Amino acid sequence: MDRILVELADQQKIQDMIASHEPFMAILAEVTKMVAREMPSAIVTFMLYDPADETLSLVAGDGLSDAYRQAMQRVKIGPQVATCGRAASTQKVVITRDIDDDPNWADYRDTALKENLRACWSIPVTMTNETLLGTFSTYHPTPGIPTNEQLVMIMRAAGLLAFALARQQDQRALRIQSQRYQSLFNYHPDAVFELDLNGCFVAANQGSENIAGLAEEHILGSHFREYLKAEHHDAAQQAFEQARKGIPQNYEVVAYNISGEEYLIDVTSLPIIVDDEVVGVYGIAKDITRQRESELKLHFQRTHDMLTGLSNRAGFEARLTEDLPLAKGHVAVLLINLDGFASINDGLGHSVGDELLQAVANRLVDGLNPGDFLARFAGDEFGVLLTERNRVEQALPLVEGLLSLLARPFVIDEHVLHVSASIGVALGRAASKNAGELIQHAHLAVREAKAQGRNTWEWYVGDVDSTVREHIELRRELLEAVEHDQLVLYYQPLVDAATGKMTSLEALVRWRHPERGMVPPGDFIPLAERTGQIIDLDRWVLWKACQDLESINAGREEPLSVAVNISPVHFRRNGFFDEIKQALDESGLSPEKLELEVTEGLMMAGSEKAIELLQNIRNLGVRVAIDDFGTGFSSLSYLRQLPINRVKIDRSFVRDIDTGRENAAIVEGIITMAHHLGLEVVAEGIETSAQRNDLVQRRCDILQGFYFSRPVPLNELLKLPTELPVTEG
Ligand code: C2E
Ligand code: MG
Ligand code: MG
Repeated sequence: MDRILVELADQQKIQDMIASHEPFMAILAEVTKMVAREMPSAIVTFMLYDPADETLSLVAGDGLSDAYRQAMQRVKIGPQVATCGRAASTQKVVITRDIDDDPNWADYRDTALKENLRACWSIPVTMTNETLLGTFSTYHPTPGIPTNEQLVMIMRAAGLLAFALARQQDQRALRIQSQRYQSLFNYHPDAVFELDLNGCFVAANQGSENIAGLAEEHILGSHFREYLKAEHHDAAQQAFEQARKGIPQNYEVVAYNISGEEYLIDVTSLPIIVDDEVVGVYGIAKDITRQRESELKLHFQRTHDMLTGLSNRAGFEARLTEDLPLAKGHVAVLLINLDGFASINDGLGHSVGDELLQAVANRLVDGLNPGDFLARFAGDEFGVLLTERNRVEQALPLVEGLLSLLARPFVIDEHVLHVSASIGVALGRAASKNAGELIQHAHLAVREAKAQGRNTWEWYVGDVDSTVREHIELRRELLEAVEHDQLVLYYQPLVDAATGKMTSLEALVRWRHPERGMVPPGDFIPLAERTGQIIDLDRWVLWKACQDLESINAGREEPLSVAVNISPVHFRRNGFFDEIKQALDESGLSPEKLELEVTEGLMMAGSEKAIELLQNIRNLGVRVAIDDFGTGFSSLSYLRQLPINRVKIDRSFVRDIDTGRENAAIVEGIITMAHHLGLEVVAEGIETSAQRNDLVQRRCDILQGFYFSRPVPLNELLKLPTELPVTEG
């Protein structure tokens, strides 16, 4: 009973040692002790197997001589080699009753007998898969075979040793594995780190310190976000969450190093999966700042002109290709080719030529808006890309501006250089052109401009749709119209409803176009308003009307006043007030004889500034009328707040006043209300006597329309009678 208990305690102890990974030799010693207790006269040995040369070597055996131990090294196993060799090779228990008469011991008999060994019982120590680990044996001083108990003991001992060895091998394999990966982590040149499921650092390698100065102890426990630029937090968080779901990610972010400097990293996030469960996230961050910088530098060199720093042709084409699909409407490509550059370059040397090109580039930059794209194509050729709608519409005045900008002399190294340029313009519909084609068209246009004697521009007409073409042409022509006296003022009389006398004239502008004939204002005023040309145009009309009126009034008993239409655009300008004064001063027309017609839309846009300006104008003595009243949004009561004298009822109400009930009621209402506010009422567009009669009867003050007279040129106006037929007869 005691023996069994002791044996169990022994076994328990050995198992604990195995579990706590104690060294094999210590375990072997314990096993030996356990067996020795059972067989006090036995010598207990263990031979370790080396599969490389299929040999056994004695590693334990208290009580054996050194000579014996040495003899038992690297013993080749085999079915006839002593006891252990046989046990190893047959993987069976081998019992040698008496070494003295066992033929298998022939080679070792003398050695064994010298040690006083007679019996040997050996058992192979194998893993569960039968891989041989060694042999466990007991030697006895007298011949004999084991009892059952002894056999069980030997087998148990062998089992324990097998278990210990297997554990040790597993352990080693594990260590190899983990330490192998550890060095991958440790020596990886990139920053490798481990995050917990919240995104906080659990570990970081030396690379993190090398790259960003962020040593492991510095970042442990902190969140990865702290080291990333704020605008990249979302992207990084998203990638982290994907990795946390088990999906590896790769992305680029801007990070901060220990000194707070930005650097660009390429990050790979990998899930750490243990037993099918993500337990953390690995990150590998590669510093790609340099790489990206050199990529960018390379890209810059490929797409830029080194002399001027501008884009080169490749850069221009790339930009055009990029912008074309995005642009709304049209884009314009201007190709600027210097005239006579070659002779300067050849005559004064390339360094002067280079400086000139730089100066030209600077001037072009000055002449363009920041949104315009400028490039130097090659030699003396520059390209400009316009994509914004108002820039495209204004391409031609821009081109003219650039021409005069370049025509100014350049002073380089004490040389005063005169160059001019030929500019080709090509318009492309955003969707329908490809970049190369557009540039090609601009080239054709430049050639045309050169052929026309240089210092000029030409534009490629091609298949641009006709409305745009007309628009562009009109734009350019309008520019000339003011300069070349193509604008003419027509006058239409306004008649006093009570007396039939002509009291004033409305100045209405006409464009005497060299090819198209007389162009009505409706065809160009809106365009002129968009392009800003309305400012010059109205200024001219104002000036001309004042001049004309003075000469008309010179030959009249009762002087007429003149009404000039003023676009709302002027009310956003500061110089307008002075322009009015100047027109009055220069002509000598008294301010009471000038009336400005503004549309009610202006008032609605209703800036304080517009009303204030209007008030100042009124204070001069100039009169103000609201034109086209009724077509806008303003209500009659709103008029009360405005510094005005007159309301002009729009033609559309007058047209069917004698037939349409509703319009009649509106007109009636406007007249009553206006009178109530102390305003005069003008009815526009009276064409028939019925309309005239109707309005007279409704107590309209002033009448205007074809019925009395169409707008006519000055000389015809002078032929009109002073009284016009207000009443029938
Ligand atoms: P508006 O100021 O309302 O001018 C009256 C328009 O009605 C004129 O057209 C005139 O010819 C037309 N009209 C006059 N009586 C009759 C009629 O009995 N029947 C018909 N069917 N039409 C009549 P127009 O000259 O074509 O001018 C159109 C508009 O262009 C003007 O409308 C005015 O808003 C603008 N405009 C004309 N001249 C100038 C100018 O010098 N500067 C600015 N900013 N706008 C101008
Ligand atoms: Mg008018
Ligand atoms: Mg009108």
